[in-house]
Amino acid sequence: MLAVFVEKIINLVFPLTCISCEREGAWICADCRERIPYATNLLCPNCFTFSPGGYFCTDCRKKSSLDGLWIISSYEYRAVKDLVHMLKYSGVTSVLDDIQRIAQPALRHLAEASESVRRVFMPIPLHEKRLRDRGFNQSALLAKMFAVCLNGRYVADGLLRTKETGSQALLSKDERITNVQDAFTASSALAISGKHVMLVDDVATTCATLQAAARVLRQHGARTVWGLAVARGTLSQL
Ligand SMILES: [Zn+2]
Ligand SMILES: [Zn+2]
Repeated sequence: MLAVFVEKIINLVFPLTCISCEREGAWICADCRERIPYATNLLCPNCFTFSPGGYFCTDCRKKSSLDGLWIISSYEYRAVKDLVHMLKYSGVTSVLDDIQRIAQPALRHLAEASESVRRVFMPIPLHEKRLRDRGFNQSALLAKMFAVCLNGRYVADGLLRTKETGSQALLSKDERITNVQDAFTASSALAISGKHVMLVDDVATTCATLQAAARVLRQHGARTVWGLAVARGTLSQL
């Protein structure tokens, strides 16, 4: 709370300026925001063959714990990457408003292309040591925001990250899968039998983290599990 208050005071003294064109008023102005293309989600998130709506294709679905993945935009757009970094590494929570505005058209489009069900929005949890160091979980802030946007229910503490995995950033695809294997367990509060779950993370690259978390939710009876990330990254962009 104090951090939010301090941020508001700082914004009064130093007004926000657009990270792309430096116009005053927001972290990204309306003109620059409208130039950021949103992801069409027309390809399988794993093999990139045609598979509209964010669903994994039939072949990839056989080895996936996720039903599909919703992506808002791409890490290849500088503004998207900068906003995610501001949230994640600098704790600038006011960028959530800008991310929400960027997400609106993509979310509308995705909601139309998918099953109309009430979803439970859950963040990819941080390990408690990482949470202590950072002071907040950026995925939890995003999950709460997306739950409001899509009229879902936000559940903060269904999953626990019980293995300290370290950063995925410098790992290959296979190393990432091994790194996050068995990283998550269900908390005693997890009650998702028969529910439609949306797992939220800031960035999805190989989907290894989302898959590992989704596996636990499946084991606990989730009916569907989707991933939702602000941006899709490739291994070379991180
Ligand atoms: Zn601008
Ligand atoms: Zn596929």
